[in-house]
Amino acid sequence: AATFGLDKALEQLGLKEINSGTSTGSNNFGSGELIESYSPVDGSLIGKVKSTTKDDYEKVLNTATNAFLDWRSVPAPQRGEMVRQFGERLRELKEPLGKLVSYEMGKSYQEGLGEVQEMIDICDFAVGLSRQLHGLTMHSERPGHRMYEQYHPLGVVGIISAFNFPVAVWAWNTALAWISGDVCVWKPSEKTPLCGVACQNIIAYVLKQNNLPEGISCLINGDYKVGELMTNDKRVPLISATGSIRMGKIVAQAVAARLGKSLLELGGNNAIIVTPDADIKMTVIGAVFGAVGTAGQRCTSTRRLIIHESVYGNVKNAVVDAYKQLRIGNPLDENNHVGPLIDTDAAKIYTDALEKAKEEGGSVLVEGGVLSGDGYESGCYVKPAIVEADNSFNIVQEETFAPILYLLKYSGEVENAIAQQNGVVQGLSSAIMTNNLREAERFLSASGSDCGIANVNIGTSGAEIGGAFGGEKETGGGRESGSDAWKIYMRRQTNTINYTTELPLAQGIKFDL
Ligand code: NAD
Repeated sequence: AATFGLDKALEQLGLKEINSGTSTGSNNFGSGELIESYSPVDGSLIGKVKSTTKDDYEKVLNTATNAFLDWRSVPAPQRGEMVRQFGERLRELKEPLGKLVSYEMGKSYQEGLGEVQEMIDICDFAVGLSRQLHGLTMHSERPGHRMYEQYHPLGVVGIISAFNFPVAVWAWNTALAWISGDVCVWKPSEKTPLCGVACQNIIAYVLKQNNLPEGISCLINGDYKVGELMTNDKRVPLISATGSIRMGKIVAQAVAARLGKSLLELGGNNAIIVTPDADIKMTVIGAVFGAVGTAGQRCTSTRRLIIHESVYGNVKNAVVDAYKQLRIGNPLDENNHVGPLIDTDAAKIYTDALEKAKEEGGSVLVEGGVLSGDGYESGCYVKPAIVEADNSFNIVQEETFAPILYLLKYSGEVENAIAQQNGVVQGLSSAIMTNNLREAERFLSASGSDCGIANVNIGTSGAEIGGAFGGEKETGGGRESGSDAWKIYMRRQTNTINYTTELPLAQGIKFDL
């Protein structure tokens, strides 16, 4: 950790004491068992964080609920000012936080910095939005009446996040929730607890500087059991959950059983369609970054390439050649392209998936395998693999959270490729590489891609915060980040005002006394 300036980064993020396992960061009432966080980069223990017990949780919820009573009445542009300062603080701490993300989660330092940049971007977006929480006015059917709608704060927003974006997903939610007048309780992934404490330290500092209640941002730690305390809690009107489809199905049912709202951001099985008119050079860069970036652990990672038979050989050779240049190793060393998987369990899932692909008849074009030896002691580094497969294979239908790319073939019209692309249960991100306008428009039309994200001449991964982010089908249907995604964090109220001395009823109903 001393190399790459990690010790300094931990200190800047207020995580020094965490290293000795004694403190759990401000506003975290943890008194439960210690969660140990091991780096997949070198296998060493980074720190320990106390988990949240049921009693701790009650204290957190009380703090949050009380904070909401104040925060909801602060004018939205002033709430925006707090988020502006939060963004400024993130600018100051971009490098240490990016480093921690890279070290605790395993993505490249560049991607760690990119993740913090996304947090900064959503803060900027939210600041502007804090003056634009617009409702509509409508014309009443009754004389002397006025109708309009307005958006009010919702309450406590529960955020459950996955390990692979250990800081950005929190900010996508909180920046919008805070300007909306909500308070947030966050349960980060138990695989990246220090990223959670670091973020909590950053916002706690900003809240303190502004004499704002600490309960505006709360942190709870632990595994799914701690998450369940929130999903079953009526005092939490919105649960925003990011993670696997398996988790989403459980969370959705728990929240629905109490008629709460859920925002679900679940797994993807993303494909790039490569048409006869594709620019092969762009295709290769987009596909390789999409497949091996974050070691294939992005929800938008490219898992399938659906290639027209007329260009199949060329594309296959170009992608296989590009894989020969990949350097696998410490993600903090900027010479490397591919870092480790999150843990050794993930490495096992990866090797099992490759076995299944072979059993189902797939042929391996680029051999995979878990790396060992110098620099790979953590047991989490794997070789990105390429397998020729068929869309109907069970393993191709699943999201394996690892760098395995399946090559699939299509013939005839682009509709045949779209059918394969849509022929999975997930519906997150999709892309077409083509210079043919008709094909591109067909892909984007009502009978085209069924995903929440559909790109032309861009890969599947790497979204900007300005658009609404999320997917259809078993990806869960939620939308976060840009566009009008803010609306889910607020409650809508329709108001009708009568400024006459009569009381006419709607629909002309007569009722005389
Ligand atoms: P995971 O489902 O194992 O865990 C995600 C979070 O849910 C963790 O915090 C976990 O503790 C919590 N959790 C699990 N079961 C729960 C339950 N029953 N009740 C309450 N909380 C529960 O996922 P992971 O391995 O951390 O992340 C990888 C998955 O996340 C992939 O499927 C990936 O596609 C998905 N993901 C989706 C998006 C998106 O925006 N669509 C973004 C990032 C990750």
